[in-house]
Amino acid sequence: MAQMSMVMNLDKCIGCHTCTVTCKQAWTNRSGVEYVWFNNVESRPGQGYPRTYQDQDKWQGGWTRTRTGKLKPRAGGRVKKLFSIFANPKLPSIQDYYEPWTYDYEHLLTAPAGEHSPVARPKSLLTGEDTKVTWSANWDDSLAGGNEIAAGDPVLAQIADKVRQEYEKSFLFFLPRICEHCLNPACAASCPSGAIYKRAEDGIVLVDQDRCRGWRMCITGCPYKKVYFNHRTGKAEKCTMCFPRIEIGQPTICSETCVGRLRYLGLMLYDADRVTKAASVKDEKDLYQAQRGCFLDPFDPLVVAAARAEGIPDDWIAAAQRSPVWDLIMRHEVALPLHPEYRTMPMVWYIPPLSPVVDVLRDTGHDGEDVGNLFGAVDALRIPVEYLAGLFTAGDVAPVDAVLRKLAAMRSYQRRINLGEERDESIAAAVGMTGQQ
Ligand code: SF4
Ligand code: SF4
Repeated sequence: MAQMSMVMNLDKCIGCHTCTVTCKQAWTNRSGVEYVWFNNVESRPGQGYPRTYQDQDKWQGGWTRTRTGKLKPRAGGRVKKLFSIFANPKLPSIQDYYEPWTYDYEHLLTAPAGEHSPVARPKSLLTGEDTKVTWSANWDDSLAGGNEIAAGDPVLAQIADKVRQEYEKSFLFFLPRICEHCLNPACAASCPSGAIYKRAEDGIVLVDQDRCRGWRMCITGCPYKKVYFNHRTGKAEKCTMCFPRIEIGQPTICSETCVGRLRYLGLMLYDADRVTKAASVKDEKDLYQAQRGCFLDPFDPLVVAAARAEGIPDDWIAAAQRSPVWDLIMRHEVALPLHPEYRTMPMVWYIPPLSPVVDVLRDTGHDGEDVGNLFGAVDALRIPVEYLAGLFTAGDVAPVDAVLRKLAAMRSYQRRINLGEERDESIAAAVGMTGQQ
């Protein structure tokens, strides 16, 4: 089987939200989906969008493994599906997403001249009334400026001093998210109407608008909360991986407009028979490697022959052979899946962020991750490896640590070249990158 997939390099995301805005313009610039962002860019650490979506005990998304080793969608099962016809499952409220608003521009333009500039009030896009905005995605990164607030106030200054000490340990990075177009999608398994399907030719997961009856079990079932309800049409909607663009050889709109050029799109070949088995391995920490075990080497003549027999065209096989996603996940082993413990086998993977490096050696032009303390530097990174492991490897630190060491080595190796110094093959050898480019 073939699967369109994506890898995002988090070191390169600047949180500009260009991807979010261009996706909005292309897909959800309509009434009924004002609050919907098929693509969103989360501040990390933070609550995400919708907030707390990662708490599956609360939202009942993803799959569970029964005692006999079988997989069961938490929001699915015949009884739960039947029940869903009479009562809605667990759904985030509009406050969990955020209440979309605009400004009262009329007031801004018609206010009489005065000493102060007129203020434009936020106005709810849903009710048209003035709104008190209490929550929005990315508010987690709005904590800066504490020191200015405290200036002149001794009590606040004392608090700020304490906070500043904590700030030194603080970190922030951005996590762009779209639907994962999972190999084992819980949204499809949870749908009582069979309206969600995975395209055989490229694995893109779509909602059949004619079959959707608006039960919203998919919203509960998706652990990434990447299906949304259109309250005008009464149907579910989600990221389509820009399939009309993909079909004519163009990248998704978020990839094309990404300022950091950090989204790599590519085709992966995989063994469908291995997927359910891999998704039901006992130990959550083994899921990441189990998913890698589903991918097939597109250069293996036996794989090529099997793909042809399955009806995959030659140009698709060629696309899988030049896929940057294959290179980053399987060849270089620097990309990791988001929350493999949800057992949906997600197909948007991430290169974890190495920055910011805390130790800059200004006199040499080298950074803290340089060869002398290559291994020490990973421990000195601001973003705790444990935090990244919680996102990408069900808490297993070793694979994240290995990726960060590789990234540090690559950066160090490249910096020597940029500084006009001798190449140091021992750096590449230290992390097993000899012979790689
Ligand atoms: Fe379905 Fe996408 Fe959610 Fe996976 S991430 S369960 S494919 S909506
Ligand atoms: Fe990050 Fe690219 Fe989106 Fe900007 S456009 S927020 S750099 S993913």
